[in-house]
Amino acid sequence: MLLPLQQGVLYGPVKSRRYGLSLGINLMPGGYKLCSLNCVYCHYGLTAVCTTDMKPHEVDLPRVGTVARAFEEKLRSSARIDVITFSGNGEPTLHPRFPEMVDEVVRLRDKHRPSARVVLLSNSTGLASEAVRKSLAKIDLPILKLDVGTEKAFKMINRPSRQVRFEDIVHRLTGLQNIYLQTVFVDGEQSNTSRSDIIAWMALIRNIRPREVHMYSIDRPVPSTEITLVSPARLEEIASVAYRQTGVTVKAFYAKRSTLGA
Ligand code: SF4
Repeated sequence: MLLPLQQGVLYGPVKSRRYGLSLGINLMPGGYKLCSLNCVYCHYGLTAVCTTDMKPHEVDLPRVGTVARAFEEKLRSSARIDVITFSGNGEPTLHPRFPEMVDEVVRLRDKHRPSARVVLLSNSTGLASEAVRKSLAKIDLPILKLDVGTEKAFKMINRPSRQVRFEDIVHRLTGLQNIYLQTVFVDGEQSNTSRSDIIAWMALIRNIRPREVHMYSIDRPVPSTEITLVSPARLEEIASVAYRQTGVTVKAFYAKRSTLGA
């Protein structure tokens, strides 16, 4: 079964493979998926509305005050929270008030749970906004998606909305400091693991120079029947080559985690 969509602004805390108990913040609408991509492997299923234009959907988006109140109430509870994660039913950085959301979440985290880290899981398309790019510096772990090395593969795997251009994403990622990249590899009819795919992807990593690259494959049902999982052995092989070729720390995540270079 695909993951059920979030209905409200908060979810969890849920156990995360990497970070312990994660309190999720959903800045997209409750009950439907609004995203600038329609990735073949998305565990939330197909994107209902694929766009970067939030104007027609603003009425469905949570307000800063609503998020802050719900968040503070949760922080005051006895729930254990190791990390606070911006994620949810689509792309959080597309919320028109995303920078203010970050300010509020960081302020309340500092007040109530200073040891909890703030994480962003983003598909990198919101980086078109300078304010969003600046707000990344306030987030402990800004994790940005880069699954492929070419526009052709981007269209096949990530299926962007018509406003999104791959070269713009790469350009903006290259201008950022202290970011983490996340890559999901898939096989089957739509694959991003051929030799030429990996060479193109590594070339971008070499230029972007993130702090780390986190690699995954799929581990839950996905909307496309044409894709399959990449084996842990193959993930290890890609991680090993990528570390040798780029000098960047590469971590492959599956049931048993492996780290190269950290
Ligand atoms: S960017 Fe994330 S939420 Fe959007 S379709 Fe891809 S995996 Fe799903």
